[in-house]
Amino acid sequence: MTLHVAIIGSGPAGYYTAEALTKDRDDVQVDIIDRLPTPYGLIRGGVAPDHQSIKGVYKRYEKTNLQDNVRFVGNIEIGDALSVAELGELYDAVVLATGAGHDRPLGIPGADKKGVIGSAAFVGWYNAHPDFAGLDPDLDVAAVAVIGNGNVAIDVARVLAKTPDEMAVSDLARYAAERIQSSPIRDIHMFGRRGPVQANFTPKELGELGELKECVALVDGAQLPDAAGDDPLPPVKRKNLGHLRQFAQRDRAERKLGLHLTFYARPVEVLGGARVEGLRLERTTVDEAGLCHGTGETFDIACGLVIPCIGYRTQAIPGVAFDNDRGRFINDDGLIAPGLYCTGWARRGPTGTIGTNRSDGIGVAEAVLADVEPGGKPGRPALDRLMKERDLWPVTFRDWKKIEAAEQAAARGAAPRRKFSSIDEMLKILKPPAI
Ligand code: NAP
Repeated sequence: MTLHVAIIGSGPAGYYTAEALTKDRDDVQVDIIDRLPTPYGLIRGGVAPDHQSIKGVYKRYEKTNLQDNVRFVGNIEIGDALSVAELGELYDAVVLATGAGHDRPLGIPGADKKGVIGSAAFVGWYNAHPDFAGLDPDLDVAAVAVIGNGNVAIDVARVLAKTPDEMAVSDLARYAAERIQSSPIRDIHMFGRRGPVQANFTPKELGELGELKECVALVDGAQLPDAAGDDPLPPVKRKNLGHLRQFAQRDRAERKLGLHLTFYARPVEVLGGARVEGLRLERTTVDEAGLCHGTGETFDIACGLVIPCIGYRTQAIPGVAFDNDRGRFINDDGLIAPGLYCTGWARRGPTGTIGTNRSDGIGVAEAVLADVEPGGKPGRPALDRLMKERDLWPVTFRDWKKIEAAEQAAARGAAPRRKFSSIDEMLKILKPPAI
């Protein structure tokens, strides 16, 4: 008997789960359902547009999708029109691989001012994600504050700092390229509430900040620990400190733009009237356990845009147990309820590399295969019937390849594609409907 599995979400976690479920198994049939007409989730909408080699992992997911027992069902939102409970009637198991697409709130006074834009929205905007294409950020500002010391903060700063030449081999949304390239931004401030040793950057990403053509990365050497104490630190931390020590030798006058990395500073208030005019920060200390404490001493910087890059939350789904404090589904190692699982960021929160989702996918696939017996559920044909009855228009993998071909054909210069940023534009290419 066939085991029918529905995976909701076609990002890395979804595809690694499908790959693991179907490895050497013809008796498992998987539908990967996504609300967008485009597959690959974070790879398309989150990974930085100038990191094309990282995006290349989609070729692996494509291979999975070319198997007969794996199917992409795009443009179908699980929620009101089709519920998780209904999917549970059609499939033996349902796996939520919906990622974490919403910003953690900054939660300080003034955080609701115009000009405070979380990284989920800002990254989505420059990546042509249909949810954020209409964001219209005002980049007519001299200075930007990027909050957080993770790789997303680095991505955001780098994309704002790169020249058109440096962005040539990228799929940066065209409207974003125009806006960024005509912006008068001269100073980008990046704030970490803890110290350089606690920063979450990875050395490769931090090192890239030292190689920008028109932007100099700067740090106050007094914030860095003495190199004599580096030995007990993990290699990643030592490499990060090595980059930071180089930045400490550089001079603002070297380049048109300055990228200022400041540690031990946590935001306490966004300043201004209706829109952002500055940011107030409190100096901190970090104790031996790595916890940060405010000192009571504050300082202000002038900036017209604040981009908190402080982590993400998963979108709750009606009827599915959700931990509102942690922003993810309540689960026991991926198990939410009998037959209902989660994986990737929706399981463990927004941490780890793309590859971390592979072990997550393998783990949840093993659990599904061990726990769930095929129960004679109808799977694919029943979903097709239901979608037809409800007038829902699924986008197939073949449809997606047409969208992809149109994006590639529209690319100019060295760019790999020119992305559509609206679902309507994508669907226009596909008429008449697939079923
Ligand atoms: P992250 O690595 O968790 O960094 C979040 C940062 O925000 C931390 O520095 C955190 O400080 C800070 N923060 C959290 N709440 C804050 C608050 N209220 N006020 C001030 N600062 C606050 O998250 P991320 O940068 O969003 O990245 C998510 C995951 O994707 C990470 O695993 C990252 O490595 C990965 N990623 C990888 C790449 C790549 O490999 N190229 C690119 C992008 C993202 P504390 O440490 O003090 O909590």
